Amino acid sequence: MHKKILSVKIEILGISFLVLFALFFKPVTMEAIQLRSTQPNLTPVPKNVKFDFERWPYPLYDEVIARFHELTRKYPKLARMHNIGKSGEGRDLWVIEITNSETGPGDSKPAMWGDAGMHAGEVTGRPVMQYFVERLLASYGKDPVIKNLVNTRTFYVMPVMDADGGELVLTRHPAWPGYDPSQRRGKDLDGNGYITQMRVKDPDGKYYKSPIDPRVMLRVRDREGGSWNYIPTTYEEDNYYWYSGIPNMGWRHKGEEPKEFDDPLAPRDQRYSIYTEGQNFKELEPIVLRERANFNRNWSYDWRPNERGSGPYPFSLPEIRAVAEFMTRTHRNIFFHYNIHSGGAARNYIVRPPMNKLVTDMDYEDNNFYRRTASIYSAISGGCITNTNYDNPNLMTGMYGDTMHGFATDWAYEHCGIHILTPEIMAKQKDYNGDGFVTSYEILRWNDEEMDGRFFKDWTPYDHPVLGGVEIGGNRGMPPAYGEQLETVCRIHYDYLIHIAGLSPLLRIKDLRSEREHDGKYRVIATLKNEGFLSTYITRNALRIRRDYPIVSKIKVVGGTVTDGERASKIVGHILGPLAYIARWGQGADESTKIVEWMVKPTGSGPLSVTVEAWAHKAGRDKQTITIKK
Ligand SMILES: [Zn+2]
Repeated sequence: MHKKILSVKIEILGISFLVLFALFFKPVTMEAIQLRSTQPNLTPVPKNVKFDFERWPYPLYDEVIARFHELTRKYPKLARMHNIGKSGEGRDLWVIEITNSETGPGDSKPAMWGDAGMHAGEVTGRPVMQYFVERLLASYGKDPVIKNLVNTRTFYVMPVMDADGGELVLTRHPAWPGYDPSQRRGKDLDGNGYITQMRVKDPDGKYYKSPIDPRVMLRVRDREGGSWNYIPTTYEEDNYYWYSGIPNMGWRHKGEEPKEFDDPLAPRDQRYSIYTEGQNFKELEPIVLRERANFNRNWSYDWRPNERGSGPYPFSLPEIRAVAEFMTRTHRNIFFHYNIHSGGAARNYIVRPPMNKLVTDMDYEDNNFYRRTASIYSAISGGCITNTNYDNPNLMTGMYGDTMHGFATDWAYEHCGIHILTPEIMAKQKDYNGDGFVTSYEILRWNDEEMDGRFFKDWTPYDHPVLGGVEIGGNRGMPPAYGEQLETVCRIHYDYLIHIAGLSPLLRIKDLRSEREHDGKYRVIATLKNEGFLSTYITRNALRIRRDYPIVSKIKVVGGTVTDGERASKIVGHILGPLAYIARWGQGADESTKIVEWMVKPTGSGPLSVTVEAWAHKAGRDKQTITIKK
């Protein structure tokens, strides 16, 4: 009760007081200022959905792909595989497609694309996407909502985008099955079977021991105030993975670190450098040409050659090129992109476009999509957030400010005109105090109390030939998400994606009829309806950049023809969805239909058979036939 009152007061007094307060009264206030969250609100899981949430390491590439192939054999009507290209090392890049093929081919329906493993070290998305696929297929016969969605929409899922890097990460650790000694970095100096880390005192070091638990190494803060604008972060929320976990990409070059902020919490005589145990200290060759790139700096929108990890040119990575090709050329039915990351955030959050603009610079209708889906996400996940689900026009919509370019998040919205969300799934073991954050201390508590300490080696002195007195210890193959908490995260994202899938436009021929005209001709009248939530153009931005795909409607007549000068195929334009008109006209408004007409004349004496088809790449396809008796 006391804490609650305290936190309210702090908010009223504002940020500067909060920071001062935080500096002097750390242990008490940290807890008080954290947001209290509710529990996730999840749909029940059908009994036939089986998933092992205690697999660690997560399944390797071969197993994931083999399982997906198996699912296509188990559900031949609902699932098929696409081989969309090859990775840098020659692995096949697989995408599973889920839709009911009896209600039309996948590319004839509005589709959602979901990927994980764009960043190799961010492996949590892999089981999240696997779970999504398993549960979606297993639910088809059990849940009428899922049945309807799989009949009318298509899902494309790529659980391992950086197949090579993902393999490297998951086979590197000696403690894990699948361990590959050739991937081993460093040497097991203390002979305990693990390669952990070495910490050594260094006035220029980037780490310091946490005053709460000296096993935890906190990073000296890079920039004043930190780069996170989504929530008031504190040093206590620094997380294990972001700074001291698995080395993920290998694209962070020496000399390219962001400018340091002289953190008052870490005097220079208490700073440390951290190295891999048994690291080779030979002089490294300077990197002149960046051959490989960061998978999320290699997209075309606002791509910059001077961005770290941008690569030599946009889409230079074969994996990124293959995905872009699939999404923009061969499968134009995709209206939504879910791009899962798990860079080790202390709390679940979702990044949204545009990354580098204020909320007011985005079209109102498009922004409204993010506001609405953000509130749904908050409700499902128990208070986790999307950047930003506020109406504060002074906030950047993307959380990365002006530092990231060539992102998938911007590419999908700005260059493809579709919607995209980029979740950062937290690396979460157990949220002991239920505040929605998992701190390094909670991770270690989980390790100590529930895992018999097997994922952490205590720091122990060692005499190193180059560095002198060091301590060896730290992370020993800590899983990013495991057990109950992995299950919760999988279920949150499953429910959220099911919600979003139902927001696509959905084009239907609602009515098809004919009227006899005085001269023996017939007027054929088709009523097209958008039964979805988004307009058929998806985003207003798509109209602006001419990446909207308008509705085309076509008539076919047996026993007659279309009158002279009239086209059988007509471009019908777009039909609005409730997202576009409810905000403007209020509940009760209806802009969801459009009428198309043709004049048809009989060529013989028999009845006329008239078939009308309507389709739009991102809104689906429908067909109806009537017979006109004379
Ligand atoms: Zn990432």
